[in-house]
Amino acid sequence: MNYQKILEEIEEEIEPFLCEGKVADYIPALAKVDADQFAMSITLFDGRTFSIGESDQKFSIQSISKVFTFTKALKIFSSKLYTRVGKEPSGNPFNSLVQLEYENGIPRNPFINAGAIVTTDTLLAHYKEKAETFDRILSFIRDISGSEGITYDKEVWHSELEHGFRNLALANMMKSFDNLECDVQEVVETYFKHCSITMSTKELSRAMLFLANHGVDPITNMKYVSPHQAKRVNAVMLTCGHYDASGDFAFHVGLPGKSGVGGGIVAIVPRLLSISVFSPRLNSWGNSLAGTKALELFTNKSGLSIF
Ligand code: GLN
Repeated sequence: MNYQKILEEIEEEIEPFLCEGKVADYIPALAKVDADQFAMSITLFDGRTFSIGESDQKFSIQSISKVFTFTKALKIFSSKLYTRVGKEPSGNPFNSLVQLEYENGIPRNPFINAGAIVTTDTLLAHYKEKAETFDRILSFIRDISGSEGITYDKEVWHSELEHGFRNLALANMMKSFDNLECDVQEVVETYFKHCSITMSTKELSRAMLFLANHGVDPITNMKYVSPHQAKRVNAVMLTCGHYDASGDFAFHVGLPGKSGVGGGIVAIVPRLLSISVFSPRLNSWGNSLAGTKALELFTNKSGLSIF
């Protein structure tokens, strides 16, 4: 398959969509990004990569980091994790509070904010100290992407800390239901910090490769999780990775994927490749508008959806 040609066709066809949607501004530092950027990268099992646009440009991975914390927590706690967080779609926005109360502080899944905050809490309880917890998350991301230089954006981190009222509300609500072990402030700080990690589409597509290959990185042969666990992470990406638009994403794109309000999306084609796209303007569900469309074009052109 001529991946580069497919990407170049997408680059042309995506043009009219790049001015649609709105950059996330509830985290003020995110509102400052250049809204017109676009990049897309594919990494194959043999290490070949194909890219269009500003594919070395780093951006805030935001909720894409939830894939990496969920993977780590699943590896440590295995199915015991599901006593604290579910694995069903929420049908609600990523930062919704209502469902959490009537479901007794147990978030529907690890990809909505409440679920990711619980996941971070389990890691913090395990590693005991917030600096150590963040270091473990960051070094895992560096390992899977083969990129030692990956770090976080202090300005975005602090900006979210200053405006994180809703996430603090979610964390406090879970604490009141006894579903948060550690100190609320420390958990939320650590959660915001991993959301503020910055990566390029090249790095992100590389990082997801182990999930396309039953938990084993096909380039380095490093085994990160069991095939069973990789299957679970992919299933939750498919059903919950785009919040209340997960059905829409499955319908139009047809791949397990995860978005972030920074404008990034990652997705995998099982046993073949991983892919990442970046375009900061979001649709009404908080997912990259042009990014979603570009992935739809990709699966239409390549025939590589899981369905
Ligand atoms: N850090 C963001 C938040 O908690 C992540 C949300 C997202 O990317 N959907 O609101």
